[in-house]
Amino acid sequence: MGRLSAVISRATTLPSSKQLRRTQAWVSGIANVVFLYWVWRHICLAAYRYIRAKGLTGVGYDGIAKVKRIVVSLLLRLPSSRAKLIAELAQTRRQLELKLVPLEESLPEGLHYQATLPLEGKSAEWLKQEMDRLQSMEKTDVKEGRVSGAVYHGGKEINEVILEATSRAILSNPLHPDIFPGIRKMEAEIVSMCLNLFNNPHGAGTTTSGGTESILMACKTYRDWARATKGITRPEMIIPASAHAAFWKASDYFGIKLHVVPVHPLSRKADVPRMSRAINPNTIMLVGSAPNFPDGAVDPISDLAKLAKQHKLGLHVDCCLGSFLMPFLKRVDRDLPDFDFSVDGVTSISCDTHKYGFCPKGSSVIMYRDASLRRFQYYIQPDWAGGVYASPSMAGSRPGSIIAGAWAVMTHLGQEGYAQSCDTIISAARRLKTALHQDPILSADLYVLGDPMVSVVAFGSNSVNIYAVGDAMGKKGWHLNALANPSALHLAVTVGVFSGIPTAKNIDNLLKDLKEVLVDVKNSPSAAGDMVALYGKSELV
Ligand SMILES: *Cc1c(COP(=O)(O)O)cnc(C)c1O
Repeated sequence: MGRLSAVISRATTLPSSKQLRRTQAWVSGIANVVFLYWVWRHICLAAYRYIRAKGLTGVGYDGIAKVKRIVVSLLLRLPSSRAKLIAELAQTRRQLELKLVPLEESLPEGLHYQATLPLEGKSAEWLKQEMDRLQSMEKTDVKEGRVSGAVYHGGKEINEVILEATSRAILSNPLHPDIFPGIRKMEAEIVSMCLNLFNNPHGAGTTTSGGTESILMACKTYRDWARATKGITRPEMIIPASAHAAFWKASDYFGIKLHVVPVHPLSRKADVPRMSRAINPNTIMLVGSAPNFPDGAVDPISDLAKLAKQHKLGLHVDCCLGSFLMPFLKRVDRDLPDFDFSVDGVTSISCDTHKYGFCPKGSSVIMYRDASLRRFQYYIQPDWAGGVYASPSMAGSRPGSIIAGAWAVMTHLGQEGYAQSCDTIISAARRLKTALHQDPILSADLYVLGDPMVSVVAFGSNSVNIYAVGDAMGKKGWHLNALANPSALHLAVTVGVFSGIPTAKNIDNLLKDLKEVLVDVKNSPSAAGDMVALYGKSELV
């Protein structure tokens, strides 16, 4: 009893002023340490990593770009320039909108906008006719091979294979593998066929709805892998500037800080030493493309793999576009650098079966070196009111018909079919590259970006507005892709053995039209079309 009261009295006694001062000193000491740690963590370390990643010139360029943006935004606050810009942007937007969403009165004969469900259902015959009218809105014949990259075959035979397979599986849903075991088998075989093509027969993978989803899944997998195995809670990834926009999307969706490293200005390939300088303890993954979308360069995957291994990072190879071209090209072209799982250090690869696999749209594969990595892609919720929920990728319910269509096309074409289409497409792309280099008229105004080895050939100009060239080619029925930084156009050669027109002849037509267009654009450089309108002002918005 006596001891307890002594304790209470000690606890309730006010501290002496000396004690108080000592406590205050302690508290302020701790506060200082916390503050210094915060400054170190959030300012010094961040600044050090930023300068190391960018180099002093990079920091300088960033600064200049920032000042430019501030000046432009200040100028735009001036009432006169602001009104002008708003008017110009509104006009561009109207122009593009009208093109994509025509007014009711400019719809083809018999077509109307319908905003509500029809009161009475329409007959199958009516639907057929309406589909014909809807198709008459398409002004471009995609089967002619004048569209870059959007359509990957035009063959009747393949279409029939796709229709037959998809129509049989039209109601299936791989979310329920127990109900649709045949779909599950086909899906597993698609993944396995791809793993074998990319030299990793014992690896793991899943199908997805397209290249974007494959890339999203890879980034999410590395994020969760790094959190579980290394405790990284502020993940960062490093990509070359030529990587696909899907990596920006993944960074946004999954909260992964993105380092975008400029590519070599001439070769257009990933700058590995610069990427190396951006690595820090929060880095989870590196990215290389084989080839990239903008200019078709193949990144030095072996060098990236060495770097990834050294720092124990994931290395994703984006072979979405390369898909079924790269493995078949590798069999005949010794100069093509290694890009697949045969390179130690490559931990995942995305391959779009719906590109050069010629499968129906909505089909891609994401592959991992082994199942222990794929585990981090899966989502499992055991406590849901609707029962245990598990799905391998972003979607819940998925179309089994696409899997059936993809499986049928791959099995129908086989290795021989793909080798043949690869040969046709690569020969055509190289014909285009050679002509742009060697033809005196073309090479006088156009230059090829880097040294494209696969199906994409990009070209820019130092003497004419390249977007005006793109617009003028559009008037002749060609759909070339516009690129930015640097301004350029590209053609992804796609329609191979399957179109009616031989691909080589198609390239000759392209070259002929390009020459005519160059003359026109030089004679009347001010002609403004969609590309000029959209890309000419892009730096302001
Ligand atoms: C097309 C492409 C993608 C994305 O594919 P989607 O199927 O359009 O989502 C990713 N990377 C590269 C290099 C591509 O060309």
